Amino acid sequence: MTAQPKSQPLTLAPWLDDGYRHIWVPYTQMQTAPKPEAVTATQGTRISLADGRQLVDGVASWWSACHGYNHPHIQGAVRRQLEQMPHVMLAGLANEPAFTLAERLAALAPGDLERVFFSESGSVAVEIAMKMAVQAWLNRGQPDRTQFVCFKGAYHGDTIAAMAIGDPEDGIMGRFQGLMAEQFRLDLPRNGETRARLDDFLADHAPECAAVILEPLVQGAGGMIFHSPETLKAVHEACDTHGLLLILDEIMTGLGRLGTLFACEQAGVAPDIMTLSKSLTGGTLPLAATIASQDVFEAFLSEDLDDAFMHGPTFTGNALACAAANASLDLFETEPRLQQVKAIEAHLTAALEPCRGAAGPWGAVRDVRVRGAVGVVEMDKIEDMNGLRARFVDAGCWIRPFGNIVYLMPAFTIDEENLTRLTDTVVKVVGGG
Ligand code: PMP
Repeated sequence: MTAQPKSQPLTLAPWLDDGYRHIWVPYTQMQTAPKPEAVTATQGTRISLADGRQLVDGVASWWSACHGYNHPHIQGAVRRQLEQMPHVMLAGLANEPAFTLAERLAALAPGDLERVFFSESGSVAVEIAMKMAVQAWLNRGQPDRTQFVCFKGAYHGDTIAAMAIGDPEDGIMGRFQGLMAEQFRLDLPRNGETRARLDDFLADHAPECAAVILEPLVQGAGGMIFHSPETLKAVHEACDTHGLLLILDEIMTGLGRLGTLFACEQAGVAPDIMTLSKSLTGGTLPLAATIASQDVFEAFLSEDLDDAFMHGPTFTGNALACAAANASLDLFETEPRLQQVKAIEAHLTAALEPCRGAAGPWGAVRDVRVRGAVGVVEMDKIEDMNGLRARFVDAGCWIRPFGNIVYLMPAFTIDEENLTRLTDTVVKVVGGG
């Protein structure tokens, strides 16, 4: 790879300055944050900037672009669908990509997850799962089950009900406590003691609760916190014992990121409701799915119109996004995605190991851990977040640390050269180089 020039003023993208006076960008202190990098193109695992630099992408656009950017198979499917019919409302009118995708997802999903409800973002998919769980109980004559059990370290989205089941201590949403419904937040049952506590808690509170919700095996935006398949099994068993629904939020973990199509397969657990988004369209278009078991679905079947699930986002089942998702699923069938994730896991495990014990100017390393295509270098504290982010860009990599975490979650298609570039850069920068 050629040497990268240092960060420089972006005179080649006049829209950046004009638009920056009006756009409100996410998770950003607009007074102090540096202006974002102007992107003009993507290809594979590279991002091209307006000033001619190229970055190797270690983030896959918030963990979504699992096949790399601009995959021709997805592009072709979207192009064809755009010509034919980009969107038609889903109530009373059916479109082939949405119906085909529902059937395919039901066939792939574990257990008896059979019914797919589409929306456009992960947070909304989680809200739909929550509403579905509460109404399933309501329709079955148990109107008091309105609470949720969630776990410390969790992140399920930024909308208000989704924030309420995240972790306000470690998460991004601590300031909104007065606004959100109080939910039950417990330690993950990692050992005998916490398992007994979960069990005791549910013995007392199950009649008030609709469901337990968890990100299986890796809690992502809450800090890339790992737990074992045994912990997931323990949560599942507790739900069974106390008659609660289990919602697994596979928005980040689902569709291969942890080396199996769904993370819950690694524990042999099937939830009652599952949420998917991120990789669903291979990162091309916004789409999310809330998939319910046949049993949950049947709770909505009756002669009473009020028992129906009263929910319907304007763009639910968007044909263009569903065409992209069908093409993305094709790629899981025709290209060796899960083997690629295994290879990335092996690479990350070996290559990030030298970070262990490092203590450079950005902070001291507390832990290094890898699961699937998720590589994490956890620091005690990151001293200068904007400085560290800019350092990675100057090194030719798009790596975006958050909290006290430097992480790599690249496309599954990344090649050895680009992956090495990412891991070498993390090792060098974290070590003070
Ligand atoms: N759940 C999980 C596990 C997530 O990682 C995210 C996104 N980081 C969400 C929900 C929310 O998804 P979205 O940003 O699409 O609303």
